Amino acid sequence: MKHNFGAGPCILPQEVFKEASQAVVDFNGLSILEISHRSPDFVKVMEEARENVKKALNVPNGYTVLYLQGGASLGFLISAMNLAGKHKKAGYINTGAWSTKAIKEAKNAGLEVVEVASSADKNFSYIPEFDVPSDIDFLHYTSNNTISGTQFKSIPDTDVPLVCDMSSDIFSKEIDVSKFDLIYAGAQKNLGPAGATLYIVKDSVLGNSSLENIPTYLDLETHAKKDSMFNTPPVFSVYVANLNLKHLLANGGVKAIQELNEKKAELLYNEIDQNPNFEGTTSVKDRSLMNVTFRLTDESKKEAFDKLWNDANIVGLKGHRSVGGYRASMYNALKIESVEALVNVLKSL
Ligand SMILES: *Cc1c(COP(=O)(O)O)cnc(C)c1O
Repeated sequence: MKHNFGAGPCILPQEVFKEASQAVVDFNGLSILEISHRSPDFVKVMEEARENVKKALNVPNGYTVLYLQGGASLGFLISAMNLAGKHKKAGYINTGAWSTKAIKEAKNAGLEVVEVASSADKNFSYIPEFDVPSDIDFLHYTSNNTISGTQFKSIPDTDVPLVCDMSSDIFSKEIDVSKFDLIYAGAQKNLGPAGATLYIVKDSVLGNSSLENIPTYLDLETHAKKDSMFNTPPVFSVYVANLNLKHLLANGGVKAIQELNEKKAELLYNEIDQNPNFEGTTSVKDRSLMNVTFRLTDESKKEAFDKLWNDANIVGLKGHRSVGGYRASMYNALKIESVEALVNVLKSL
């Protein structure tokens, strides 16, 4: 088996892969790939998949869980369109490539964007301080910056509606959903196979946009009214996400996985900090538990290091082109043994 440190699509538990593969061949007599999304068997899967998100994150009453398509990339536009209010103006904390794209889509939705803070001056290697103006419809932030390797350690404190792209750290730690008006996340970083995009939306948001003529599919109320079955949902992706959620809940839930994720991150960061061959690329206090970015202190050792980790069956360690160096993504299903294997490689250089 290989140790998969890839940034996304994500590693999932082996048990989930096995069960999913069986359902491709036989799910109550048909393949999961061919059943009607209107069949009672699949309607039950969709209901469970929505319910299990509520269980895993303790979602309070008054929120609706939806599985749509288009990835978080369409979520940038959907969130801006649905949260647009009387100011037609939104605040964005710009902490990386994904936030920058979200800002672009808010402008495409016709909103005025205030960048309340940005860490672009240092290639997004830290989480900036910010003040939130009161004359905005909502504040948007990216909880975990998958590319640069930074993560918010607390939820921004604000009175305006809060929107978050949680693509790469949802289900990795406990969160207080009641603080948010909208959370969205592409499935493929910590939930399931690419294809589905998760939305957790406060019911008071639905149907309350100040924009006229939101395209039917982009209006969250459309999907809420149809129990997330307005059109053909990404059946397989939702099915496997549900298997993964059941697996998570059966193994202590988000609380237990958070403890494991903290241990994994500590193990790797400790080695990076004490090993003179390596250095982290982000400010220490803002380090991500999911995506660990680091580089060699002496580039002439690159060939030797690359050979070492390749020989150790490690894959997906190359850093994003905008940051360089290396990135070890440690999503929920990555075992601590895999992190130990990587730490041993770092030690052996
Ligand atoms: C991967 C990622 C995205 C893009 O997701 P798609 O589903 O590919 O559109 C957006 N935001 C964050 C934080 C990501 O990690």
